[in-house]
Amino acid sequence: MIKQIVLASGNKGKLREFNQVLSHWDIEVLPQSHFQVVDAEETGLSFVENAILKARHAARATGLPALADDSGLEVDAINGQPGIYSARFAGPAADDMQNNAKLLEMLNGLPDDQRSARFRCVLAFMRHAEDPTPLICQGTWEGLILREPRGDNGFGYDPLFLVPTLGKASAELPPEQKNQLSHRGQAVKELIARIGPYLR
Ligand code: IMP
Repeated sequence: MIKQIVLASGNKGKLREFNQVLSHWDIEVLPQSHFQVVDAEETGLSFVENAILKARHAARATGLPALADDSGLEVDAINGQPGIYSARFAGPAADDMQNNAKLLEMLNGLPDDQRSARFRCVLAFMRHAEDPTPLICQGTWEGLILREPRGDNGFGYDPLFLVPTLGKASAELPPEQKNQLSHRGQAVKELIARIGPYLR
């Protein structure tokens, strides 16, 4: 039985969430920093590839089963950009403000009915570094890109992401409500439903 899993991320919010979810199976989730593992290079060309690269890197370095996530925003009018480059859209060291500014600039003047977008999240769970059948779970969250930022919660593109069913930006939602609806929330639900047999 698996008792510990390494999370290929240093994000404290993700660590807390995965610990809550996996406590059901009596599993402890440790961040890769606990083992002095540095971030893997994200050289893949899809969310799935990058999630697997990160999980494999953490599993190889620690000898433990590993969980990784990769996520981003896909905007239809610009052929799915920023996609896997969401975190580094405006350059390798870009911050959220610069990434948001670049997106607004690219969509300048675009009518409302052409501003559709979605967040994507892929989770990859690997029992060991050579695992030939990683468990892949995916979540999607549909929305529209606003013309200016709204709200102070969240991170990344949340201030520009309108949730049409609520008439609010993602950054205007309380964290619990965002977790219920979001791409990451959906992927985590799928993980909960499917991970059982992989833990034996
Ligand atoms: P990752 O950490 O490599 O998965 O990169 C994810 C990037 O996608 C983040 O830096 C954000 O720019 C964007 N992103 C992913 N999920 C969200 C979200 O829930 N809200 C806002 N931006 C997000």
